[in-house]
Amino acid sequence: MPHIMIIQKSIPNEEWKEILTPLQYKILREGGTEKAFTGELLNNHEKGVYVCVACGNELFSSETKYDSKTGWPSFYSPISENSFIIKPNSGSINASEVICAKCGGHHGHVFTDGPEPTGLRFCMNSAALKFKKK
Ligand code: FE
Repeated sequence: MPHIMIIQKSIPNEEWKEILTPLQYKILREGGTEKAFTGELLNNHEKGVYVCVACGNELFSSETKYDSKTGWPSFYSPISENSFIIKPNSGSINASEVICAKCGGHHGHVFTDGPEPTGLRFCMNSAALKFKKK
């Protein structure tokens, strides 16, 4: 996907450092994870859309949000199959990495212990998301 590569290259990390908060930078640009049960959107039950805090890419609908009891906002499906790039089994944990398809930012991981109808659990960092109320 050449389009994505162009966007990623167009914003160097020095610039991201100015755009993002330190926590957002740690998650999105360094693959970090926020502390469980600390995210502002963890218990948000309002109807709307969750977008990438860095680039505004639409990622999740509130319709697919559920309480996974893990301490991180969880969804069983992205809003579109083009929302993310999924990197299979990356890093130390046994899950696939979930990357914003528009800005290349790390958002979290997807596990296969989610609820019906997909059986997937998109385990996300609240700090990397922005909620847009419907
Ligand atoms: Fe993004």
